[in-house]
Amino acid sequence: MDWALSHGLVKLGANGGVIHAPFTLEPFPIDPAVCGRLAALTPLYNRLAWRVAESLDFLSETLGPAARDDPFLRRLLELAQASAGAQPLHLAINRSDYFLVAGEGAGVWRALQVELNTIAASYAGLAGRAQALHGYLAAGTPEAGRLLANDPIAGLAEALAAAWKRLGDPRRVCLFVLQPGERNVFDQRLLEFALRERGIGVARHTLEEVGGQGSIREGKLAIGGHAVAVAYLRSGYGPGDYSSPDAWRGRELIERSDAVAVPTAAAQLAGSKKIQQVLSREEVLGRFCEAEEARALSGTFAGLYDPEEPVAMAEGALPAWRAALEFPQRFVLKPQREGGGNNLFDEEMTALLRTSDAAERAAYILMERIAPEPRRSLMVSEGTLRDGDSVSEIGRFGVLLADGETEHLNRDVGYLVRTKAADSREGGVSAGFGHLSSLIESAE
Ligand code: ADP
Ligand code: MG
Repeated sequence: MDWALSHGLVKLGANGGVIHAPFTLEPFPIDPAVCGRLAALTPLYNRLAWRVAESLDFLSETLGPAARDDPFLRRLLELAQASAGAQPLHLAINRSDYFLVAGEGAGVWRALQVELNTIAASYAGLAGRAQALHGYLAAGTPEAGRLLANDPIAGLAEALAAAWKRLGDPRRVCLFVLQPGERNVFDQRLLEFALRERGIGVARHTLEEVGGQGSIREGKLAIGGHAVAVAYLRSGYGPGDYSSPDAWRGRELIERSDAVAVPTAAAQLAGSKKIQQVLSREEVLGRFCEAEEARALSGTFAGLYDPEEPVAMAEGALPAWRAALEFPQRFVLKPQREGGGNNLFDEEMTALLRTSDAAERAAYILMERIAPEPRRSLMVSEGTLRDGDSVSEIGRFGVLLADGETEHLNRDVGYLVRTKAADSREGGVSAGFGHLSSLIESAE
């Protein structure tokens, strides 16, 4: 814990003081071949999300039914349509999250994607710090040589700097758009400092401040005396981030200006659950990528269903929502929301499915519940050690900088491991479930 406090593996506690972030004492073992395959998928997921973001008709058609009773989703869609073409340069900072499940044969592992995060993909900073902690703990042991290095901040900073440079004016700043009351501040600061080391100025504001104090001059977003080159959103992914008209105005200013938005409203929507579900259909995926890429991507798809679509069960085909009522432990019900804590499991899921009609169900997708094998872990959170069964979720960070048809940069830049108690459903670190960890090459 002292190492964590001394090296920036920290967050703000509930009463405002600095405390260590939750971490595990040991890294998570992974077959290096599986790890390499996941890293190789990152540029493919980046490209897919970019192409989907450029396809406004597809986004509108696919999200239309879910947006009908969802003002937040509807407003994002409208924003995406109104601002099409404002920002020719496309910069994405994504994180694709996976669970490993036992495949066919001993020692064979298969990665199944939980989701792709295209907005506010967090923990690049603290993931690097957790890996460094494990390096410290393993020093002098045989494990030290098998730890997998991790420095996603360097890759994120490189991508932001590349976009900033293309705008051609070194006085323009990178704007971090933050949530008021954020506790995961040091994760963000690590990225800010990496940008400052590259000579890039950084401004920090909430969406509400951008709306209240910002303006557009000659196409440029200006706030606090600075013109913004890149607007990096660590906020804006849920309705709670838009509790005032000023906050929406802030998002609109970012979207309409020539600042490179990470992400645009369209790129944010490309990462929604409904889009993930529809892309799992072969004919849809085929519209956005080559056959070979589609094959590689679809190898990581868990079962994803529209609630009304038939699913083959042992007793014959059933609409997915009926199948989920009969076998609740095999499904997760997901609304079009980000940030953790929104998915419905077990009784909460069946209660909703029992009382809703088809139009209401259209706001959700059903997903196969992924069951990774539990492993014993030592987890440290708020000064308390916990020893118990755990599961680990692996995220791969990816950056993409593109312009028209050209990819200037598209690569994997590192990983995140979050380990949670095997009996907890959600996995968020901020939500209090996940513990930051790292990867080690498995011994066999
Ligand atoms: P959000 O966008 O709110 O983060 P996610 O889809 O990533 O939503 O889900 C949040 C957490 O719920 C995940 O980190 C994971 O722990 C758990 N989860 C999500 N989908 C599944 C699934 N299909 N099977 C098992 N657990 C899941
Ligand atoms: Mg998410």
